[in-house]
Amino acid sequence: MSTKHCQLLIHGAAEVVSWDPQAPTNADSVVVHDGKIAAVGVEQELRKTWQPFGEINAFGGVIAPGFVDGHVHPVFAVGRAEEFDWRAQGVDYLEIAARGGGILSSVRNVREANPEDLFDTVCAHLRRMRHHGTTSMEGKSGYGLSTEDELKSLQILARAGDAVGMEVFPTFLGAHMFPEEYRDNQEAYMDLLCKEMLPAVKEQGIARAADIFIEQGAFNVEQARRYCERAIELGFKLRIHADQFHQIGGVELAVELGAECVDHLEVLSDSGLEAMALSGKTYAGLLPSVPHFLRQKEDAPARKLLQAGVPYFIATDFNPGSSYTPSLPEAAHFGRIRLNLTAAEVMHGVTLGAASSLGIDNRKGHLRPGADADLVVLALPDLFHFGYAFGENPVSQVVCKGDVVRF
Ligand SMILES: [Zn+2]
Repeated sequence: MSTKHCQLLIHGAAEVVSWDPQAPTNADSVVVHDGKIAAVGVEQELRKTWQPFGEINAFGGVIAPGFVDGHVHPVFAVGRAEEFDWRAQGVDYLEIAARGGGILSSVRNVREANPEDLFDTVCAHLRRMRHHGTTSMEGKSGYGLSTEDELKSLQILARAGDAVGMEVFPTFLGAHMFPEEYRDNQEAYMDLLCKEMLPAVKEQGIARAADIFIEQGAFNVEQARRYCERAIELGFKLRIHADQFHQIGGVELAVELGAECVDHLEVLSDSGLEAMALSGKTYAGLLPSVPHFLRQKEDAPARKLLQAGVPYFIATDFNPGSSYTPSLPEAAHFGRIRLNLTAAEVMHGVTLGAASSLGIDNRKGHLRPGADADLVVLALPDLFHFGYAFGENPVSQVVCKGDVVRF
């Protein structure tokens, strides 16, 4: 039988998580060609058909789809370690925000940052994420909160994705918080968002979705409805922050407006859960490292959501104030501890679940033939070990669109 050349053969795995029911259950290898997955199977069989130019030995590890992070705030200039100390002394997240810390302190830093320095910082964030296996991601603005600084943030995010070689799916989050200069004139900021910022972002084509933080101290449901309806009118998808600390109707609104996802859900009510289950379309964005980081007692009712058939993903929510980790394996660990999910469930959450929430599951989140060749090799003996250890990076190799990433 004649053989065909292919770009890459990754072989020697104990297990391949492909999310492809057609793939052989004893698969140990993956063939990559032209930046796409060509085949998943048993090495001996694959070598009869394929002659690889390059090879990677998985050394008895697990091959999985490249991780997709569905909720990230990567456009920030500096961390907020000082607040972390305040929190240790008992000051809570909303109190820190009321003191002018929190999101607004990141806003001041982004506004003051030299664009080239900010670009370098965002590239560094993306590289840290990829080092932990993330090969594509949603990325939000939201630390600019003026037309100029939000556009600057989204432009820098797009450039950083290109420079690092990571596909970024951008979300406009001008409604993250009311900026200081509009604190006493919320109506004027709502006008700015709806009449100037959303249309400007649309015109530049630099975000696919719009997001809003629906919470006490941020945006109320009435304001959110106005913003979201305007965003829909302009053709944006919706990805929404709600039910993190207080139930104020954000989940119900997100479902009513057909949002792609509603994220956090630590204080989700039974009626909110029912609304999500009935819709079956709005994904639950589970961010289990956040309550850990904020020392919050409540967790999203993940088991109930899954039992009700609500689609879901697991994300890092990487940001300087409430989840300072670029690592999806770490988020998966918190998913197993705090959300009581299994290894297979958290793996689904950081791969196919996240890709589906972004509407990119035709080519990402799995290793079916024709998918983008985004994959990771994990130094784990089997899938059951995913999210088991913490504080160490299980990712030993990353392949992004067929290219082997060198760390
Ligand atoms: Zn967030």
